[in-house]
Amino acid sequence: MEIFIFFGPPGAGKGTQAKKFALKYGFKHISTGELLRQEIIAGTDLGQTAKQFMADGNLVPDELVIAIIDEQLKEQAKWPGFVFDGFPRTHKQADSLDEIATQNGQTIKKVIYMEADESGLIERLLKREKIEGRLDDTEATIKNRFNIYHQQTEPVLDHYRRQGKFVAIDATGSVEEVEARIEAEYEKVIKD
Ligand code: ADP
Repeated sequence: MEIFIFFGPPGAGKGTQAKKFALKYGFKHISTGELLRQEIIAGTDLGQTAKQFMADGNLVPDELVIAIIDEQLKEQAKWPGFVFDGFPRTHKQADSLDEIATQNGQTIKKVIYMEADESGLIERLLKREKIEGRLDDTEATIKNRFNIYHQQTEPVLDHYRRQGKFVAIDATGSVEEVEARIEAEYEKVIKD
Protein backbone atom coordinates (compact mmCIF):
# COMPACT_ATOMS: atom_id res chain seq x y z
CA MET A 1 0.00 0.00 0.00
CA GLU A 2 1.34 3.36 -1.07
CA ILE A 3 0.68 6.88 0.12
CA PHE A 4 0.97 10.00 -2.04
CA ILE A 5 0.69 13.43 -0.46
CA PHE A 6 -0.53 16.55 -2.27
CA PHE A 7 1.00 19.54 -0.54
CA GLY A 8 0.82 23.28 -1.11
CA PRO A 9 -0.61 26.63 -0.05
CA PRO A 10 -4.36 27.27 0.12
CA GLY A 11 -5.88 27.60 -3.34
CA ALA A 12 -3.02 25.90 -5.21
CA GLY A 13 -5.45 23.35 -6.63
CA LYS A 14 -4.43 20.42 -4.43
CA GLY A 15 -8.01 19.13 -4.21
CA THR A 16 -8.66 19.21 -7.95
CA GLN A 17 -5.37 17.55 -8.87
CA ALA A 18 -5.40 15.04 -6.00
CA LYS A 19 -8.84 13.81 -7.12
CA LYS A 20 -7.78 13.45 -10.75
CA PHE A 21 -4.57 11.69 -9.73
CA ALA A 22 -6.45 9.21 -7.51
CA LEU A 23 -9.00 8.44 -10.24
CA LYS A 24 -6.37 8.00 -12.94
CA TYR A 25 -4.17 5.59 -11.01
CA GLY A 26 -6.86 3.79 -9.01
CA PHE A 27 -6.12 5.15 -5.53
CA LYS A 28 -8.41 6.43 -2.76
CA HIS A 29 -8.55 10.23 -2.43
CA ILE A 30 -8.60 11.44 1.19
CA SER A 31 -9.08 15.15 1.90
CA THR A 32 -9.05 16.08 5.59
CA GLY A 33 -10.80 19.38 4.72
CA GLU A 34 -13.65 17.47 3.02
CA LEU A 35 -13.90 14.91 5.81
CA LEU A 36 -14.07 17.71 8.38
CA ARG A 37 -16.76 19.53 6.38
CA GLN A 38 -18.76 16.25 6.30
CA GLU A 39 -18.44 15.95 10.09
CA ILE A 40 -19.84 19.48 10.42
CA ILE A 41 -22.80 18.68 8.16
CA ALA A 42 -23.48 15.44 10.06
CA GLY A 43 -23.48 17.47 13.31
CA THR A 44 -21.04 15.17 15.13
CA ASP A 45 -19.12 16.29 18.24
CA LEU A 46 -15.94 16.32 16.18
CA GLY A 47 -17.67 18.49 13.57
CA GLN A 48 -18.88 20.92 16.24
CA THR A 49 -15.35 21.33 17.59
CA ALA A 50 -13.75 21.63 14.14
CA LYS A 51 -16.24 24.23 12.88
CA GLN A 52 -14.91 27.28 14.71
CA PHE A 53 -11.27 26.53 13.95
CA MET A 54 -12.10 26.19 10.27
CA ALA A 55 -14.33 29.25 10.02
CA ASP A 56 -11.46 31.36 11.42
CA GLY A 57 -8.91 29.77 9.08
CA ASN A 58 -7.07 28.08 11.95
CA LEU A 59 -5.87 24.50 11.98
CA VAL A 60 -8.08 21.92 13.63
CA PRO A 61 -6.20 20.31 16.59
CA ASP A 62 -3.78 17.58 15.53
CA GLU A 63 -5.42 14.87 17.67
CA LEU A 64 -8.76 15.24 15.87
CA VAL A 65 -7.25 15.19 12.39
CA ILE A 66 -4.96 12.25 13.19
CA ALA A 67 -7.95 10.28 14.54
CA ILE A 68 -9.80 10.88 11.25
CA ILE A 69 -6.82 9.69 9.21
CA ASP A 70 -6.25 6.65 11.39
CA GLU A 71 -9.88 5.63 10.92
CA GLN A 72 -9.74 6.16 7.14
CA LEU A 73 -6.60 4.06 6.75
CA LYS A 74 -8.31 1.20 8.59
CA GLU A 75 -11.71 1.53 6.89
CA GLN A 76 -10.29 1.90 3.39
CA ALA A 77 -7.53 -0.69 3.75
CA LYS A 78 -8.62 -2.56 0.61
CA TRP A 79 -7.29 0.22 -1.64
CA PRO A 80 -3.84 -0.21 -3.22
CA GLY A 81 -2.93 3.37 -2.36
CA PHE A 82 -4.06 6.64 -0.82
CA VAL A 83 -3.81 10.19 -2.05
CA PHE A 84 -3.75 12.62 0.86
CA ASP A 85 -4.95 16.12 0.19
CA GLY A 86 -4.34 18.66 2.97
CA PHE A 87 -2.63 16.24 5.33
CA PRO A 88 -0.14 16.37 7.02
CA ARG A 89 -0.13 20.07 7.84
CA THR A 90 2.07 20.12 10.98
CA HIS A 91 5.24 18.37 12.20
CA LYS A 92 3.16 16.42 14.69
CA GLN A 93 0.85 15.17 11.92
CA ALA A 94 3.84 14.20 9.75
CA ASP A 95 5.45 12.26 12.62
CA SER A 96 2.15 10.48 13.40
CA LEU A 97 1.69 9.59 9.76
CA ASP A 98 5.18 8.04 9.66
CA GLU A 99 4.28 5.96 12.72
CA ILE A 100 0.86 4.89 11.46
CA ALA A 101 2.26 4.00 8.03
CA THR A 102 5.05 1.90 9.55
CA GLN A 103 2.58 0.10 11.82
CA ASN A 104 0.30 -0.74 8.89
CA GLY A 105 3.11 -1.66 6.52
CA GLN A 106 2.36 1.31 4.25
CA THR A 107 4.96 3.42 2.45
CA ILE A 108 4.91 7.16 1.82
CA LYS A 109 6.01 7.29 -1.81
CA LYS A 110 6.17 10.96 -2.73
CA VAL A 111 5.04 14.40 -1.69
CA ILE A 112 3.77 16.39 -4.64
CA TYR A 113 4.38 20.04 -3.80
CA MET A 114 2.20 22.40 -5.82
CA GLU A 115 4.07 25.65 -6.16
CA ALA A 116 2.30 28.91 -6.96
CA ASP A 117 2.56 32.61 -6.32
CA GLU A 118 0.56 33.88 -3.35
CA SER A 119 -1.15 36.88 -4.97
CA GLY A 120 -2.72 34.72 -7.70
CA LEU A 121 -3.89 32.25 -5.08
CA ILE A 122 -5.71 34.87 -3.00
CA GLU A 123 -7.64 35.96 -6.08
CA ARG A 124 -8.51 32.36 -6.87
CA LEU A 125 -9.80 31.77 -3.33
CA LEU A 126 -11.96 34.90 -3.32
CA LYS A 127 -13.58 33.66 -6.56
CA ARG A 128 -14.21 30.27 -4.97
CA GLU A 129 -16.08 31.97 -2.12
CA LYS A 130 -18.52 33.38 -4.69
CA ILE A 131 -19.00 30.01 -6.42
CA GLU A 132 -18.97 27.52 -3.55
CA GLY A 133 -19.92 29.76 -0.65
CA ARG A 134 -17.19 28.23 1.55
CA LEU A 135 -17.19 29.75 5.02
CA ASP A 136 -13.41 30.08 5.16
CA ASP A 137 -12.84 31.84 1.82
CA THR A 138 -13.26 35.39 3.09
CA GLU A 139 -10.44 37.91 2.93
CA ALA A 140 -9.43 37.97 6.62
CA THR A 141 -9.64 34.20 6.92
CA ILE A 142 -7.63 33.68 3.75
CA LYS A 143 -4.83 35.89 5.15
CA ASN A 144 -4.82 33.88 8.35
CA ARG A 145 -4.69 30.59 6.40
CA PHE A 146 -1.60 31.82 4.53
CA ASN A 147 0.10 32.89 7.79
CA ILE A 148 -0.56 29.51 9.31
CA TYR A 149 0.59 27.79 6.13
CA HIS A 150 3.93 29.64 6.26
CA GLN A 151 4.41 29.13 10.00
CA GLN A 152 3.27 25.57 10.54
CA THR A 153 2.76 23.73 7.27
CA GLU A 154 5.54 24.85 4.92
CA PRO A 155 8.30 23.69 7.34
CA VAL A 156 6.89 20.15 7.07
CA LEU A 157 8.31 20.03 3.54
CA ASP A 158 11.81 19.69 5.03
CA HIS A 159 10.71 16.48 6.70
CA TYR A 160 10.07 14.96 3.27
CA ARG A 161 12.99 16.69 1.57
CA ARG A 162 15.30 14.96 4.03
CA GLN A 163 13.64 11.65 3.17
CA GLY A 164 14.13 12.32 -0.57
CA LYS A 165 10.38 12.17 -1.21
CA PHE A 166 9.83 15.66 -2.51
CA VAL A 167 8.61 16.48 -6.06
CA ALA A 168 7.83 20.12 -6.97
CA ILE A 169 5.21 20.90 -9.62
CA ASP A 170 4.52 24.29 -11.15
CA ALA A 171 0.87 24.81 -10.15
CA THR A 172 0.23 27.86 -12.35
CA GLY A 173 -1.77 27.65 -15.56
CA SER A 174 -4.88 25.67 -16.45
CA VAL A 175 -6.09 22.53 -14.67
CA GLU A 176 -5.11 20.51 -17.78
CA GLU A 177 -1.61 22.01 -17.92
CA VAL A 178 -0.94 21.23 -14.26
CA GLU A 179 -2.42 17.75 -14.69
CA ALA A 180 -0.07 17.09 -17.62
CA ARG A 181 2.95 18.19 -15.54
CA ILE A 182 1.98 15.85 -12.73
CA GLU A 183 1.45 12.99 -15.18
CA ALA A 184 4.90 13.53 -16.68
CA GLU A 185 6.48 13.51 -13.20
CA TYR A 186 4.49 10.42 -12.31
CA GLU A 187 6.09 8.51 -15.15
CA LYS A 188 9.55 9.91 -14.36
CA VAL A 189 9.82 9.83 -10.55
CA ILE A 190 6.57 9.74 -8.56
CA LYS A 191 5.69 6.10 -9.20
CA ASP A 192 9.15 4.77 -8.26
P1 ADP B 1 -7.36 24.70 1.76
O1 ADP B 1 -6.18 23.82 1.44
O2 ADP B 1 -7.79 25.51 0.58
O3 ADP B 1 -7.13 25.54 2.98
P2 ADP B 1 -8.85 22.42 2.91
O4 ADP B 1 -10.20 21.93 2.53
O5 ADP B 1 -7.70 21.49 2.73
O6 ADP B 1 -8.63 23.78 2.10
O7 ADP B 1 -8.84 22.86 4.45
C1 ADP B 1 -9.83 23.73 4.99
C2 ADP B 1 -9.66 23.88 6.52
O8 ADP B 1 -9.83 22.60 7.15
C3 ADP B 1 -8.28 24.35 6.98
O9 ADP B 1 -8.15 25.74 6.95
C4 ADP B 1 -8.26 23.79 8.42
O10 ADP B 1 -9.04 24.58 9.30
C5 ADP B 1 -8.98 22.46 8.28
N1 ADP B 1 -8.01 21.35 8.00
C6 ADP B 1 -7.93 20.59 6.86
N2 ADP B 1 -6.93 19.71 6.92
C7 ADP B 1 -6.34 19.90 8.13
C8 ADP B 1 -5.22 19.32 8.79
N3 ADP B 1 -4.50 18.34 8.22
N4 ADP B 1 -4.90 19.78 10.04
C9 ADP B 1 -5.60 20.75 10.64
N5 ADP B 1 -6.65 21.36 10.07
C10 ADP B 1 -7.03 20.95 8.83
